[in-house]
Order: sequence, then C-alpha cells, then structure tokens
Amino acid sequence: MSCRQLSQFLSENLGDLKTKGLYNVIDPLQSANGPTIIIKGRELINLSSNNYLGLATDSRLKQSAVEAIQKYGVGAGAVRTINGTFELHLELEEKLAKFKRTEAAVAYQSGFNCNMAAISAVMDKNDAILSDELNHASIIDGCRLSKAKIIAYKHSDMDDLRMKAEQARNLGAYNKIMVITDGVFSMDGDIASLPEIVDIAEEFDLITYVDDAHGSGVLGEGAGTVKHFGLSGKVDFQIGTLSKAIGVVGGYVAGKQELIDWLKARSRPFLFSTSLSPADVAASIKAIDLLSNSTEQIRQLWENADYLKAGLKKLGFDIGNSQTPITPCILGDEIITQEFSRQLNAEGVYAKAIVFPTVPRGTGRIRNMPSASHTYQMLDTAIAVYAKVGRNLRVIH
Ligand code: PMP
Repeated sequence: MSCRQLSQFLSENLGDLKTKGLYNVIDPLQSANGPTIIIKGRELINLSSNNYLGLATDSRLKQSAVEAIQKYGVGAGAVRTINGTFELHLELEEKLAKFKRTEAAVAYQSGFNCNMAAISAVMDKNDAILSDELNHASIIDGCRLSKAKIIAYKHSDMDDLRMKAEQARNLGAYNKIMVITDGVFSMDGDIASLPEIVDIAEEFDLITYVDDAHGSGVLGEGAGTVKHFGLSGKVDFQIGTLSKAIGVVGGYVAGKQELIDWLKARSRPFLFSTSLSPADVAASIKAIDLLSNSTEQIRQLWENADYLKAGLKKLGFDIGNSQTPITPCILGDEIITQEFSRQLNAEGVYAKAIVFPTVPRGTGRIRNMPSASHTYQMLDTAIAVYAKVGRNLRVIH
C-alpha cells in the first residue's frame, strides 16, 4: 500500500504538469536513431538527435562493438577500481587525451555523470563557482553536489563575469574559485567566449572548466571549442560526451595527468558505479580513430547545417544566431510551437518543440539538429514541409 502523502504529492504534481502542457510525451523509436526514424510505423526525417556525424549507425562502429561483445561479453561486471577496468578503457582514455590535446583523460558512464563526478571531486564548501546562467542541468547539479558557493553570471556576459570574479576574489572568503561554462550552448547554438573567460581566469586565478558536449566532434577539427580558439593547455577541465558526435554513450574529462589521477582516486562515479560496457568502449575507440584520420564527416555536418539554415532563413523563419550546426527555428508562443511540431510530424518531419522552462517564456522554438548523414533530398523535403506548416500557421507568408 502506498503512503497517502506520496500519492497525493504525485497526483497533484503530475496533474499540474499535464494541465500546463509540461508533461513529456515520449515517442518510442522502432528503428535506429539515424537520419530517418520509424515511430508508430511511420518513417520520419529525424531532426532531433545529437548524432551529429551519423556515427550512431556507422557499420565500422557496430562491427567494433560486436567484436568486443564476442571477446568480453556485454557487461563490465564491476566498478573501475575493483576489476571493471579493461585494457579497452585505458586505450580509449589514451586516445581521448590525444584527440583533445591534453596529457590524460578519464571516461565515465555518461556526460551527466562526468559533471557530477568532476566538480565535486575538487570543489567544496570553502570554494566558489562562477557559472554561466544557461549552463546545462548536469553542471548545475554537479555544482550543488560540491556544496561550493554558486555565483551565476549573465549568459556570456564577460563584464558581469569579470565583476563577479573580482568581488569573489576580493572577499577573501573562498579557497578555490572556478569558472564553468558550456562550450556550445545547446538551445541557441552559440559558442562560449572562451578567450575572454581564459583571460579573466588568469587575472583572478580561477580554475577553468568547459563542458564541450556539443563542441567535441563539431568544432576545432573535432577536438572541440578549446582547440577551436587555439587555447589547448589553457583550460583545466575539458568535459566531453561519447553520446553525441561520437555516437555511442558515456562521457570523459580531459586535462593534466595530475587532475586525472585525482579523479580516478576520488570521483564517486569512478569508484562506485559499474564502468562503461566493452561494446560502448570499443565503438567509441573506433569513432575516435575515424575522426583522428578524417574530418570528412565534420565537413559534411557543417555543409548540411548551412544548407538547412539557408533554406529556413530564405523562407522567412527566425533561426537565431547559432554559430554551430544547432539550428533553432524560433516561433515565440508556446502553443504555436507545440502545434508547429505536431504538424511537422504529421507531414513526415520529427523535430521537437522546446518551450519554457527549458528556454525563457515567449521564446518557444523547434530545435533542428542536422547531421552529416542527412542527404540533400531529406533536407529539401524538410524545408518544403517547414514552408507548408509555416504558411498554414501563418508564421511565414
Ligand atoms: N553537458 C551538456 C552541455 C549536455 O548538453 C549534455 C547532454 N544533454 C550533457 C552534459 C549530458 O551528456 P550525456 O547525455 O552523455 O549524459
């Protein structure tokens, strides 16, 4: 029998989410998460996945995963420090470090886990963290877990960051101070002002932490935002995920050897959660090998993104100021945004509506995620569907 208070809490809050239209409706896939997907028996052009380079369905990655399963089985069997570290994990970490131009790297079970692991392993209640107000939820949770004082600065506002860094330093109340930012912000596709952040960090002696979930495999010949700005060696923590451009699942921290040694000794998901499966690790190694030898898929990703952006812009849509392949189509009103997404779906295009509280009220949008594996024909079809739905809902003329 369920506790009455719990039942009341759940039914009231679930009801509230549903009446406000904030309850996530989940559409299970009946196919791979490729350039097209099958949902409820219908094939749709997929503009919603983070599979930037098409590697999630790449036959070479699949083959590596199959071979690893044949040799090692499906589960790692233990946490990293007991006997869940396979040679494969170390090979992946070595390759990630090379790929990111750092001394060392450590892999975790997800990008989300990385932020929980890394922030709390070095920051504590005597420290302060300067955090961009639009940072990802996993950064926010990682900061909270650390018990450090969290000081949010206005999104990419370097004057505000400088002022708050100076105040925090002058207060003299904190041991360590960290500045933490997404490399690429996932809702608008804008890139963090890393050169200025690194300057401010040098001036006020701040630890620098960049979560490059959306920059790795996309910017800086794949090495990410830090390399894109020529700042290799100047950022203490580089976080990446294996689940977006790399196409698999997992996350990693790349940095100095000493930092990685500390994370392997002290970060809790490394010590207390079963390690990445051999298949995930083997497929990730293959992805890093491919990206280290060719930037062709990255070039194709950018070309496809430019093509989609140009098509939507020509139709008169507001596509914001993205500096990366992330292509928002900003519609404003939440109800119109939801209806727009529903009509796209009815016409064969899967692109989710993103509304408050994920983005500010009145800035509802469809977030399009073009990938290297879309064909021009698919993109043309998607643009034509946008035109039809846009005119139907009188968003464009
Ligand atoms: N950080 C950022 C900036 C992200 O966008 C995401 C993915 N939504 C994550 C971390 C979490 O990564 P993962 O999906 O690998 O847990």
